[in-house]
Amino acid sequence: MNNNEYEIVIIGGGASGLMLASQLDLGGAPGLILAGSSALGTKLLMSGGGRCNITHGGPVKDFVYAYGDEGQTLRRCLYKHSNLELAKWFSGLGVDLADENGEPVDASYGSGGMDSAGRIFPASGKSRDILNTLIGEAAANLWQIETDAKVSGLRKDGSWVITLINGYELKAENVVIATGGITYPETGSDGSMFEMLDDLGLDINEPRPALAPVYVEDYPYAELSGISIPDVTVIAFSSDAACTCKGKAAKMKGDLLFTHEGLSGPVILNISKHAEPGELIRLCYNKELHELPRRMQRILRERSRGLLGDVRTNVLASLLDHDDFTVTGVDERGMVTAGGVSLDEMDMRTMAAKRFDGLYVIGEALDADGITGGYNLQLCWSTACTCADDLRSKLCL
Ligand SMILES: Cc1cc2nc3c(=O)[nH]c(=O)nc-3n(C[C@H](O)[C@H](O)[C@H](O)COP(=O)(O)OP(=O)(O)OC[C@H]3O[C@@H](n4cnc5c(N)ncnc54)[C@H](O)[C@@H]3O)c2cc1C
Repeated sequence: MNNNEYEIVIIGGGASGLMLASQLDLGGAPGLILAGSSALGTKLLMSGGGRCNITHGGPVKDFVYAYGDEGQTLRRCLYKHSNLELAKWFSGLGVDLADENGEPVDASYGSGGMDSAGRIFPASGKSRDILNTLIGEAAANLWQIETDAKVSGLRKDGSWVITLINGYELKAENVVIATGGITYPETGSDGSMFEMLDDLGLDINEPRPALAPVYVEDYPYAELSGISIPDVTVIAFSSDAACTCKGKAAKMKGDLLFTHEGLSGPVILNISKHAEPGELIRLCYNKELHELPRRMQRILRERSRGLLGDVRTNVLASLLDHDDFTVTGVDERGMVTAGGVSLDEMDMRTMAAKRFDGLYVIGEALDADGITGGYNLQLCWSTACTCADDLRSKLCL
């Protein structure tokens, strides 16, 4: 780094940081991306099993529900920079998108939303194509990019002063936090920035893994590993769910997957952030016994036997209706992080922190997370584009 004074420094070289740089032509203003890891976009490359489920199809109004309590707060920026806009942008750059069945996404569809439904991927099925496009656009917009540049300090001293772990100091008029969450720390997203933001005085809601498998006490289904049961209702109970009825933290319905160690599948991943160790998780199979896989029927019968070895039909019926387990833990390797920078701190029209001039937060570092299906990357895109709009007009770029 030759110069140490920048107009904008983006801390983080993942989906959100790179999307911001892709949208913002610096027009000669000095701008720098700092990534603590040795490579850019490592988590983006892993996403969707390497296929990169970049967003979800359908009308953008349906997106709001995918982010739970935070959905309404995100509404404005999801509408402003929607899934359809994203598809148009990528297809304008020659990256065609397709739905789960490989059908092309029609990015020319009108204003109501995207015509395609379900998960949306690059038609090539390669997340590398998405990453290369973002890096190419960021470079074309004249962003300087530094990898292996881990930030260890951030303070305001007139301008923002950013300290790297080797002690080097940079100054910036505007700093964008795009440092992601706490899971998969080997990708560089190790949560280190949350401590620095906390020290600054920003309100951070405790980060924890979400979209993760759940482990339970006395798990009886290890031998069913790999078997999926459709349309299971799952209820997570919580000790502090004071605002909800009878301690229910969340109730969701979807496909359940048994693994060797515990519970997984979309419905479990989606409810995992509400699953608290020591509290109950309830599985309601919504099926008659004979509709379940044979091996599972056998296990359920075994679990219903009385002292004399007879199957107690009332116990069997209640297991089908509410198979209750005590949660022992949630896998640390969640696909996303729940918690992070409180949305109350943010002006959602700009992604600027309300109390800190020239500080922006985008992407997974925010206390907002979606269910599986492309909603988490859409959150990165929408917040990054909103931030780009503000910086563009603020700096007349
Ligand atoms: C296995 C897996 C599969 C997934 N699949 C999907 C999917 O298909 N669809 C979907 O929507 N979402 C998916 N997600 C979630 C999605 O990938 C993330 O939400 C998204 O990539 C987050 O982007 P981000 O830019 O906010 O953060 P990240 O991509 O985590 O990037 C953070 C950047 O900040 C840098 N950084 C962190 N701390 C510092 C520091 N102190 N100094 C300097 N740099 C720092 C990191 O090195 C990194 O460059 C998946 C996640 C995982 C783990």
